[in-house]
Amino acid sequence: MAVVDIKSIRCPQCKSKNQVHIYKSVNAQEDLKLHDKILTGELFDFYCPYCEYKARLYYPCLYNDPKNRFMVYFIPDIEKGQMIDRTVEMEYPDLPKITKRIVPTFNEFKEKILIFEAGLDDMAIELTKAAVAEAVARKKEQDVNEGYFSLYDKENNTLGFTFFLGIEHTMFTQTTKLDVYRKSWSIVSRLGKKERSMKGFIKIDKAWADNILFRYQRFGFDSN
Ligand SMILES: [Zn+2]
Repeated sequence: MAVVDIKSIRCPQCKSKNQVHIYKSVNAQEDLKLHDKILTGELFDFYCPYCEYKARLYYPCLYNDPKNRFMVYFIPDIEKGQMIDRTVEMEYPDLPKITKRIVPTFNEFKEKILIFEAGLDDMAIELTKAAVAEAVARKKEQDVNEGYFSLYDKENNTLGFTFFLGIEHTMFTQTTKLDVYRKSWSIVSRLGKKERSMKGFIKIDKAWADNILFRYQRFGFDSN
């Protein structure tokens, strides 16, 4: 069941008091509407009926998908790489093989949900993305600011990533063959062992993947 708090929040524009629903946790299976509202971002929309001010209001939200065996904890701006939430640990004590992640941004929150729903491994996806980002930066001669998993075409063996390039943050989508993902998977199955055995919620992001890629390129497959 979703855990919802109702909070009174002052509108940043007109200072009127508004009642806002804060979804502290959401269960994907129990409420498909909430699932969709998370992916569109609507769950975090703030609207003031007094002055019609609209904004995104991000707050900590735990997403739980028991069927696909993953949990993603969105904690805006969290810097920690690992977090053990006692309440969650007590509620779901050591469930085997539940993948638990923390993410600091809404885009990463959404990306993790899409990756796990597609039945993919997020460590292998991050590594694939890091490798593809390097290739895109070379090809376009621009810095890659951010990138997100955006397409999985099983029939055509293709993965796609959407990147934001250069100072203009130009959107650019690059596809790659599933073989790259498979290779990444075999790399992270060795170099990501430590993370797989870690307790609580862990952060698997670009910085993590860059580090793995660096170790792989520098020390090769057998180094740990
Ligand atoms: Zn207002």
